[in-house]
Amino acid sequence: MLVTGNDSNNMNDDKLHEECGVFGVLYKDPAHNAVPTTYFGLLSLQHRGQESAGIALTTSDNNGTRIECRKGMGLVGEVFAHGHFLEDLKGSAAIGHVRYSTAGASIIENAQPFVSRFKLGSIAVAHNGTLTNADVVRSLMEDSGIAFASSSDSEVIINLIARNYKKGLEKALGDTIKFIKGSYALLVLTEDALVGARDPSGIRPLCLGRIPGKTKDDTDAYLLTSESCAIDAVGGEFIRDIEPGEMIIIREGEVLSFTFSEKTPRAVCAFEYVYFARPDSHIDGQDVYEARLKAGEILGKEAGVAADLVIGVPDSGVPAAIGYGRATGTPFGLGIVKSKYVGRTFIAPEQASRERAVSVKHNVIRSEVQGKRVVVIDDSIVRGTTSRRLVSILRAAGAKEVHFRVSSPPVRFPCYFGIDTPHRKDLISNLNSENELCKSLGADSLAFISVGGLLQSMGSQVNEPGPGCGHCLGCFTGEYPIPVHGEE
Ligand code: SF4
Repeated sequence: MLVTGNDSNNMNDDKLHEECGVFGVLYKDPAHNAVPTTYFGLLSLQHRGQESAGIALTTSDNNGTRIECRKGMGLVGEVFAHGHFLEDLKGSAAIGHVRYSTAGASIIENAQPFVSRFKLGSIAVAHNGTLTNADVVRSLMEDSGIAFASSSDSEVIINLIARNYKKGLEKALGDTIKFIKGSYALLVLTEDALVGARDPSGIRPLCLGRIPGKTKDDTDAYLLTSESCAIDAVGGEFIRDIEPGEMIIIREGEVLSFTFSEKTPRAVCAFEYVYFARPDSHIDGQDVYEARLKAGEILGKEAGVAADLVIGVPDSGVPAAIGYGRATGTPFGLGIVKSKYVGRTFIAPEQASRERAVSVKHNVIRSEVQGKRVVVIDDSIVRGTTSRRLVSILRAAGAKEVHFRVSSPPVRFPCYFGIDTPHRKDLISNLNSENELCKSLGADSLAFISVGGLLQSMGSQVNEPGPGCGHCLGCFTGEYPIPVHGEE
């Protein structure tokens, strides 16, 4: 069955989208301001969410210590434009959040961090992921008289912590975490501590870093963040990844580690390596750039074709194209240019303007592809709209043959763990065989990397999906590391 996949009116809807990025810092010296560090950390996580941004910090004055928060809709640079919001903020600990909405609408009420003020103090929470039991927990809490200000499932977390806070921080966090299910990389800021927790399967990444002091062994501050690139951005040193099911409490210059769940197989999201994470990050010991390069090499070995040129769809298709070129001996070139300044909120109401919008985003370097047999490599095919357009503009620029190769397996199933996926009916690989899809794209040939090949590229010791492979592959295989209601 052929589908057009054209019912989206968002020109960037042909990709899966990461939901959020989190960044936290706690300085030992109470005079040190954590806000600029958080701002720069968030800037380097901007690729993980572009709809809203926020910073919460602990601040002290004659009235005591409390948590303040500033957040708004838009990019980090827009929300905190020209120091707006930042100038009046000073405090030695802060957490920040960038958001792309999946659970909950794109409105200011859902922007994070969330702050709760109650009799015993105040806390702030920043969450990346999705709770699979948020609706159940929310309605239980509503039945007991708790009101919610947003539709975000992350607000469930802060309300649970606040409710349990009289038992002490550690117990309140432990009890909350036992109650929630799903994926989370969680930061909690209290008036005297910074806390990080990663869900028992480790689906979303979280890592620990530090900012060195005057001597090599001194530490000025500890950092917790979604990706290691944010640690580099603030001049920090990577210490280690947070383990699945681990909670870290940083207080008075000490880092304490707790294991809060039974040992569960690690299942880090494979799409972090395919597309979401920045190529200069590493997650759970695996360099993201290396994984993309390797995926291209494996794709070349699995589905190489005689050609004069291999090109990658920017950005994450490019390392895979380099790897493919190395494996097959095909010369690599830059055949496609992407405009980085096309916003993701662009809405094109008419079909004609929609197609124009795609042309604005990608263009072909005619002199590079003219008269050549071209292999084009993208990181994924979701709806197929961009791929179809790319084949068409490559042919219009004079490419003799266009062979499409994809460095992830076909996306056939939705994600329930914090990634925005279109409806199943709009996932073009769910409804079409590879041959039908190739015809629909207008390509001379089409091939995807195998699931085993993808696992190998991410350094997995096992080539079969399942509990031992170390990764969630749910959107490729339909098998999820956490039971999902309706998908069992
Ligand atoms: S289903 Fe799993 S692999 Fe796919 S995007 Fe979601 S977390 Fe990642």
